[in-house]
Amino acid sequence: MLVPSPWRADFPAIAALQRQDQTYLDNAATTQKPQALIDALTHYYANGAANVHRAQHLPGAHATQAFEDSRSKVAQWLNAGDIGQIVFTHGTTSALNLLAYGLEHQFNPGDELVISALEHHANLLPWQQLAQRRDLKLVVLPLDAAGLIDLEAAAQLIGPRTRLLAVSQLSNVLGAWQPLPQLLAMAKARQALTVVDGAQGVVHGRHDVQALGCDFYVFSSHKLYGPDGLGVLYGRNAALQGLRHWQFGGEMVQDAEYQHATFRPAPLGYEAGTPPIASVIGLGATLDYLAGLDQDAVAAHEAALHDYLLHGLQARKGIRLLGAPQLALASFVVDGVHNADLAHLLTEQGIAVRAGHHCAMPLLKRFGLAGAIRVSLALYNDSADLERFFEALDQALEMLR
Ligand code: PMP
Repeated sequence: MLVPSPWRADFPAIAALQRQDQTYLDNAATTQKPQALIDALTHYYANGAANVHRAQHLPGAHATQAFEDSRSKVAQWLNAGDIGQIVFTHGTTSALNLLAYGLEHQFNPGDELVISALEHHANLLPWQQLAQRRDLKLVVLPLDAAGLIDLEAAAQLIGPRTRLLAVSQLSNVLGAWQPLPQLLAMAKARQALTVVDGAQGVVHGRHDVQALGCDFYVFSSHKLYGPDGLGVLYGRNAALQGLRHWQFGGEMVQDAEYQHATFRPAPLGYEAGTPPIASVIGLGATLDYLAGLDQDAVAAHEAALHDYLLHGLQARKGIRLLGAPQLALASFVVDGVHNADLAHLLTEQGIAVRAGHHCAMPLLKRFGLAGAIRVSLALYNDSADLERFFEALDQALEMLR
């Protein structure tokens, strides 16, 4: 069965990579960009860059308008209640570090922060370090056999001392939606704050943060076909108001004396210094592009491609999948083959996949592994990309076995 992508030509880098004999299947790490984004960046830089929220002049007004338009597009994309709930950061990692610092004063020794066993280092280390600083307990929810956060265990572990739950929506290693509604309900019953790492989840389908009901939702623009150096922190108003300011400098201040200052509320109070203006404008253009696509067709395409990937992997002897991937990606190891050797031979054949611990070392250790190969898909991939991957995989395995 062929699975063509009707959107492939919208991403000029795919053809460029093909001319370099490269097949790009590392989309969970970062994605290629649509022409609409490239045009928006060129337009901004070619027509007059200016700083935002500061200048009286016309270029400054244009830049500020475009910047704030992007904020409303992000708010719409997530169905946030108002645009003041969207704070721009430098990525998921910086958003989560902002939260771990900004919430610190709300916790007391002995309080419990709950994460899960599958978290990316970005949603583990900021909480781990906070727990160490404040003498809190970091509780780790285990996974079931399918690689989902175990709800029975969660019901035991989310308890009266739980002050915060921070979990991933879609694992970057296991490719499975996590049972967020149940987990968030358990945390809310304990009046705990809830943080959702949407770095992978936001890329697949539309997500409504109000329906989800979390306090905070974070993601990175570059994984959602947008520019890099930019992330989004959504927060409910009350949750944002509970944050401590974290970086100090231009634009975040209300009033300053030499010995004292007061600070603006969100969003600007959490966007100290010159933000990544072009990237914010570019993300707005990317969201316009994505919003124009037939969402059902994109979902059907991604599902068909994922089936193709899974069938191909399962048809080959000795391949062990990690968990039970539902969409977007699959991570695997091959019996008797070191993943670094396999990755090397795939790279030599122009296949761009990821090998290693995927920034989730404790998870890989739970599988008894130091690393795995991950193939991750985007809307511009097609079955021909996967055929090239499977051919290269067969050749590599023939050499290694
Ligand atoms: N969380 C998850 C689930 C991720 O996949 C990633 C990126 N691999 C991150 C967080 C961190 O994102 P960034 O590097 O863009 O800050």
